[in-house]
Amino acid sequence: MKAFVIGKDGKKFIREVEKPEIKHPKDVLVKVKSAGICGTDLHIYKGEHPMAVGQDRIPGHEFSGEVVAVGAEVKNLKPGDRVVHEPIAYCGECYACTHGQPNVCRNLKVTGCNIDGGWQEFYCAPERQWHKIPDWVTWTEAACVEPYTIGGQVCSQADVQAGDVVLIHGDGPIGLICGDTAKHLGATVIISGHRAGRLQLAKEIGMDYAVNSRETDLKTLVNELTDGEGVNVILDCVGLGRIMDDNLDMLSPAGRFVPVAVAPFTINNPTNILAKQLKIVGSRLQNKQFAPVIARYALYKDSIDRLVTDTFAFEDSDEAFQYNLARHPETGKVVILFDGKE
Ligand SMILES: [Zn+2]
Ligand SMILES: [Zn+2]
Repeated sequence: MKAFVIGKDGKKFIREVEKPEIKHPKDVLVKVKSAGICGTDLHIYKGEHPMAVGQDRIPGHEFSGEVVAVGAEVKNLKPGDRVVHEPIAYCGECYACTHGQPNVCRNLKVTGCNIDGGWQEFYCAPERQWHKIPDWVTWTEAACVEPYTIGGQVCSQADVQAGDVVLIHGDGPIGLICGDTAKHLGATVIISGHRAGRLQLAKEIGMDYAVNSRETDLKTLVNELTDGEGVNVILDCVGLGRIMDDNLDMLSPAGRFVPVAVAPFTINNPTNILAKQLKIVGSRLQNKQFAPVIARYALYKDSIDRLVTDTFAFEDSDEAFQYNLARHPETGKVVILFDGKE
């Protein structure tokens, strides 16, 4: 079978690899149908991802497919079922695992990062890492389940509630997906970005405000929109560490800040944290978000159909990566279809 490989020497190629097979009674073998390109994949592609550097890697953690074979102890899946992959495997024994947070397991294996991912025709993983999707979900849409679990995790960590006002730095797919998730939780969402095409997209998927951060004074805007109260949640999906003090100024008392993208930040005025009892909360990957996201997927369908702007055939994977890296202002999510079509 074929796989798309990002070589440790920087070369990218499709090559023949051994087809995986059921080795454990709980294994499920899946014929891969679609895979979404994520920022993480782009980092791996550029040879910059710390978990993948120095080795040949098959990328892909946002993928779906059809079950073709199951091990003897698999209970809830059978050939023909349509599934999405959950890209984390954990030890079950460390502190995080025994305290309900296996997504930060000490021994975490992340599909497509420190182990090979879904950019191959077949993929074998334990039943626990596959989730069934309804028939009406297209393969293209299925590739967005995993990024929506990230939105679910971020909003859960930020404790987004109905009636909250949420400010999101970033008009990329993760910013918009976090925004869509927050909207469906009943929040008012302000997206701050600087690419006209993306801000337009943000409006089309129902964000309440989509503002150009290069033309707008965010502090003034937040003050006006919230009658001086401040926003209740800020999600930084860009990595704007340099404005951390502004973020803390813009938060309301009891506000929460989640640094979704990684950037160094310094807090010069910690008084805000004490006086307003703010929380700065981490969010990594996702924890038990697949079931709720799939259950609510019909709510997200229209947004997803708008967010995915381009699909490529598996044979054109390298071209798809190059296209995504070119950062065309109109590009949203890019998805690979293994059959070349739905
Ligand atoms: Zn991703
Ligand atoms: Zn663990």
